Amino acid sequence: MSIYDSLGIKTRINAAACYTALGGSIMPVEVVAAMSDAAKSFISLHELQEKAGARIAQLTKNEGAFITTGAAAGIVLSILACRTRGDLVEIQKIIDGNSKRSEVIMFAGQRIPYDSNIRVAGSELVTVGDAIQSFDYQLEAKINEFTSAIFFCAGAHLASAALTLEKTIEIAAKYSVPVIVDAAAQLPPASNLWRFTNELGADLAIFSGGKALRGPQSSGLVVGRKEFIEAIRVNAAPYPRLGRGFKASKEEIAGLLTALELYLKRDHEADWQRWSKVVDSWVGVLTSKSSCTIWRDDVNEAGQPTPRVAIQLKEPTALDVIAKLQSLDPIVEVVHDSRRMVWISPDSLQPGEEEKVPTQLLKALPY
Ligand SMILES: *Cc1c(COP(=O)(O)O)cnc(C)c1O
Repeated sequence: MSIYDSLGIKTRINAAACYTALGGSIMPVEVVAAMSDAAKSFISLHELQEKAGARIAQLTKNEGAFITTGAAAGIVLSILACRTRGDLVEIQKIIDGNSKRSEVIMFAGQRIPYDSNIRVAGSELVTVGDAIQSFDYQLEAKINEFTSAIFFCAGAHLASAALTLEKTIEIAAKYSVPVIVDAAAQLPPASNLWRFTNELGADLAIFSGGKALRGPQSSGLVVGRKEFIEAIRVNAAPYPRLGRGFKASKEEIAGLLTALELYLKRDHEADWQRWSKVVDSWVGVLTSKSSCTIWRDDVNEAGQPTPRVAIQLKEPTALDVIAKLQSLDPIVEVVHDSRRMVWISPDSLQPGEEEKVPTQLLKALPY
């Protein structure tokens, strides 16, 4: 009996995305094996973090890498690194509550639910521009002696009201302010693992381990300049300092490293072809419904190049369709907005689930 059966929990078909609330992603067997292998021995966690980080840095063409417990943890640690630069006196001042007020700048048009982690790092959020646009001079006007970093959220879906990352880095460099890129869900393409840092010059980039990388759900990765990765190390577990709550275990470190190696070896073009076929077949089946307009979308919910099907309802609302889907067996999870849009994606499907998705959708959509 599976653990889920024993708890009376039904498994679900994930046609939505790598959502934390659904369990993130499914780890390949090699990742689970690496975790199980790592679970058998005592090691120095300092040494494992250092050596796994060095391997990841080399694989991702970065100066350094640090494994943590998710991208949200990565945000906190990155900001602590920029605030303290790894100086124990500065760390102690934050712990004592008498650190100089520290500001983190971000574009108003890039505000996301996860930016509350800036507060968790004891910092104050300063926004630039508005929901429509931002200008160079607006960013420059916010930089002052309290600025510790610029926090930039990558992704096509957040780009229109912000300066480009290139321009942001250029302005930041003028004032020697580090730039942190939140790239939690910006895979694929795999090249983003080095693009923001190595190619564009951001100081740190943060990725979730439990999304497209298919590592442990509670894992995450920060890559970038050596000096800032070392500053993260000083703030983080196994030290009993402010970052201690984000303790990646030996199993998670082994799992994430293995997941990353697999991801870099993967044939991403073949994934695209496979997903494309599924998406096209779903569009074919669902166009029989006249209650909605159906089309193929080549960008996912995080603005990344992963194909999916967009369903625009004439009636009822998306929430009505979700309620219906949740009443069926098996439950198919989808992405939706608060009005009339629903999206279904093939990239998180497990073997044998492809056809069940349109079957349940046909039941949930009216005429
Ligand atoms: C998912 C996500 C996070 C949080 O990632 P975790 O790995 O779940 O902590 C942060 N920022 C963005 C943009 C995300 O998409």
